[in-house]
Amino acid sequence: MKFLEELGIKAVNPGISTGTKWMQGSGDVASFSPVDGLLIGRVGMAGKHEYEEVMQTATRAFEQWRTVPAPRRGEVVRQIGAALRAKKQALGSLVSYEMGKSLQEGLGEVQEMIDICDFAVGLSRQLYGLSMHSERPSHRMYEQWHPLGIVGIISAFNFPVAVWSWNAMLAMVCGNVCVWKPSEKTPLSAIACQHIVAEVLERNGVPEGVLCLINGGHETGELLAADHRVPLVSATGSTRMGKAVAVTVAARLGRCLLELGGNNAIIISRDADLDMALVGSLFGAVGTAGQRCTTTRRLIIHESVYESFKAKLVKAYGQLRIGNPLDESNHVGPLIDQAAVDSYLGAINACKAQGGRFIVEGGVLSGPGYESECYVQPCIAEVEQDYPIVHTETFAPILYLMKYSTLEEAIAIQNNVPQGLSSAIMTLNLREAELFLSAAGSDCGIANVNIGTSGAEIGGAFGGEKETGGGRESGSDAWKNYMRRQTNTINYGTQLPLAQGIKFDV
Ligand code: NAD
Repeated sequence: MKFLEELGIKAVNPGISTGTKWMQGSGDVASFSPVDGLLIGRVGMAGKHEYEEVMQTATRAFEQWRTVPAPRRGEVVRQIGAALRAKKQALGSLVSYEMGKSLQEGLGEVQEMIDICDFAVGLSRQLYGLSMHSERPSHRMYEQWHPLGIVGIISAFNFPVAVWSWNAMLAMVCGNVCVWKPSEKTPLSAIACQHIVAEVLERNGVPEGVLCLINGGHETGELLAADHRVPLVSATGSTRMGKAVAVTVAARLGRCLLELGGNNAIIISRDADLDMALVGSLFGAVGTAGQRCTTTRRLIIHESVYESFKAKLVKAYGQLRIGNPLDESNHVGPLIDQAAVDSYLGAINACKAQGGRFIVEGGVLSGPGYESECYVQPCIAEVEQDYPIVHTETFAPILYLMKYSTLEEAIAIQNNVPQGLSSAIMTLNLREAELFLSAAGSDCGIANVNIGTSGAEIGGAFGGEKETGGGRESGSDAWKNYMRRQTNTINYGTQLPLAQGIKFDV
């Protein structure tokens, strides 16, 4: 495939890099495409030796990188954005082929990387601190923000490249160095990114160790979490993983930025524009085959429009085309692997056992075009809100429908799950919209009106509450996560008055 060649991907690839230099690694992992089940390539995995080499190189690099003026660090990030623009088509195609999302979504993911580069370049001149008035005469107080050191980035398979850039581009302009442990399910997309940035690092004489890649399984993630040389671990993935990382990092009083599972709902009011609600619900539920952290998993529908909306939804599901995601006429691609298919089937069985009624049946597709055995039928079940399965994130296209009569009840249903990532209300009623956005409304990190739960812009801070982990990445002031705040007081007078009027005469 041409895009593999363009991105420097070979049949066997070294999996560890300190920037421009590569190490093969011990053992290897094979990356199969869920699109057609074919082997794309093999990747070397980090052993203890390579891990140590990367950490020592990154530690040395930080000593230099933290002294480079932030706007000059921004200039390097600007060039990374330009390099990504030049490779957008190839990288988007690989993301789509290795992960299984549609080509448009693969390209969209690379666009997000370019956008966060632009954002980070501007940010490199805006790492502002506040200045305060001192209570003491001839004193000045202000705060400044300094880099932390090594930022460990652990990422999930479903956004194999964008999540890294959200973290790394901000961390880099802030003066940190990064060690990225990508998902073992999408190692080649990560290697392609490293090839793209390596050219820029080399051209600018950036020290080896500023942007490192370390392919490995969960054990490598565990090493990062436990490593006292890593002041911040930014981890994206399942709540199960986040709970393990949080405990390990907390035990050494390090910092975590956690972006974990979601269980996102749309409330469809009797005052909704039902055509818009249909588009938002459909894309939210079946886009990326239900493998987005912001996928719509629950629809909470007002009783007066429940039957008519249900009929529209069932009709729309009947028109979905499921198949090769690189073919733009298809709406839904495959799940990532067999384990994901098993978890989808397990959730359908659990839903039925708990009383769920399927109005669009699920199942695994077979036959020509479905050879990878990872293609499944998006399905819809009518449920009660207290079924345990409805409180669980199943990373697959299963949509649960529930009925409500008052908005307070709908908000309570929406909030009554352990996760707190994304939420939405479809309504043209101002009172309803404002209640939903108020302190008595949605408890999620993201709350939308008249758009779905899925997809977010890089300008806002992205993340969620409760079991979603509480982290915020990307826009707004999320950059502060990657820096340490220092409060400075300067006395330019001839006396040494103490604060709070304390006298200490000698
Ligand atoms: P996963 O938890 O299986 O793996 C994610 C990453 O964590 C991988 O790199 C893996 O190797 C590593 N890992 C696993 N166990 C670890 C441990 N004990 N210590 C350190 N690292 C460990 O998740 P996945 O299947 O790749 O991704 C799907 C999940 O990610 C879903 O729950 C989804 O909602 C979530 N997700 C969340 C966001 C968000 O921003 N909130 C974004 C994307 C995905």
